[in-house]
Amino acid sequence: MPEFKKQVLEVLRQPLEDGEVSISRSLITLKYPADVMLVAAMNPCPCGYLSDETHICTCSPLAVQRYRSRLSGPLLDRIDLHVDVPAVPYEELKKTRSDVDSATMRARILDAREMQSTRYADERITLNAELTGSALEKHCVLKEEGHDFLKQAVETLGLSARAYTRVLRIARTIADLEKTASLSVDHLAEAINYRTMDRQGNV
Ligand SMILES: [Zn+2]
Repeated sequence: MPEFKKQVLEVLRQPLEDGEVSISRSLITLKYPADVMLVAAMNPCPCGYLSDETHICTCSPLAVQRYRSRLSGPLLDRIDLHVDVPAVPYEELKKTRSDVDSATMRARILDAREMQSTRYADERITLNAELTGSALEKHCVLKEEGHDFLKQAVETLGLSARAYTRVLRIARTIADLEKTASLSVDHLAEAINYRTMDRQGNV
């Protein structure tokens, strides 16, 4: 992602937020549907070896900061899941994979989507990603311990209102994948784990 210029990346904010793009010319403004699923990748620094255990990063702190600053806080706010992907050691590469296979994962996702479209039959939405305002409050009810945990996380990590909304939606999805009706602190903690770029303070 940071290979693109900052003003090019910022253009993504509108489709990620509204699911459409507006193009304005002198006499007319046209809106086009652009409800996308964005999947993007970046290195931790220009050389790619920052925090790698087997290589030395050759970037200056300023170069790292300049590279990461191409992604603004408001753009990162609009990306639901941030996942660190460290280098895989040789022993791990050799191992036979025991993770969930794609067919099983697909079935779990379809079940979760089905639960959501049934739950939101009266809301004119079909997915957790579309939850806003009163629907978000109604379907992401937290117990007192959940409220306390989330308040502390928001204050400590400095999460924005937009990131807070996303944490609730993602926690709802994690609970749905487990077929659990109520949101627990564990669901919230896992959702907050997917905000790594916020937690690095948007450097
Ligand atoms: Zn580097």
